[in-house]
Amino acid sequence: MKEEEGYDRPTREARMDLRRLINHPGDSIVYEFVTELQLWEDEGPWVTVVGEAVGRNMDGRMVLITGRVSGQIGLNCSRCLTPFYQNSETTFEAHCEIRTFRRIAEGLPVEEGEELTAIFDGETANIGELSRQALLLTLPLAPVCRQDCRGLCPYCGANRNEGLCNCQEPSDPRWSPLDLFFTVHKGNKT
Ligand SMILES: [Zn+2]
Ligand SMILES: [Zn+2]
Repeated sequence: MKEEEGYDRPTREARMDLRRLINHPGDSIVYEFVTELQLWEDEGPWVTVVGEAVGRNMDGRMVLITGRVSGQIGLNCSRCLTPFYQNSETTFEAHCEIRTFRRIAEGLPVEEGEELTAIFDGETANIGELSRQALLLTLPLAPVCRQDCRGLCPYCGANRNEGLCNCQEPSDPRWSPLDLFFTVHKGNKT
């Protein structure tokens, strides 16, 4: 892994202050961030991510947030179990109606529910959470360290990427009637 010493120490919370934006139709703000996330919510390693978000007040009607985030994510290969890093980069988007900000700030329930309140409180947008949700979607269900990963030997457990072991594939008894069939047919043809 490459040590990321060039960065300032990342924070564990990335929240964009929207107080000014909420009250100024037509305004926009840019928010650059370096933060640490736990991709799988409360477990797993912290990943340092960097990105930029833009907030826009759309005609005094709503605040629209769009952004981009990237990070180097530690995964385990599903074939050979070796840990490796994948560079992920993705975009995110969220919006909240101005009147909904007012409801949240007053502690009133909002019809959009928890999906919205996980991102927006009365005056900020949780850019860390938006980034986490977006990055999670970039990860493959069965990650592989490389496309041609040979995986582990099912007999001795050796990593086949590091050289071949001496295990012989035992012939599978389920196929033997078929072997016989082919042998017989080959015999008939000649
Ligand atoms: Zn692998
Ligand atoms: Zn083996």
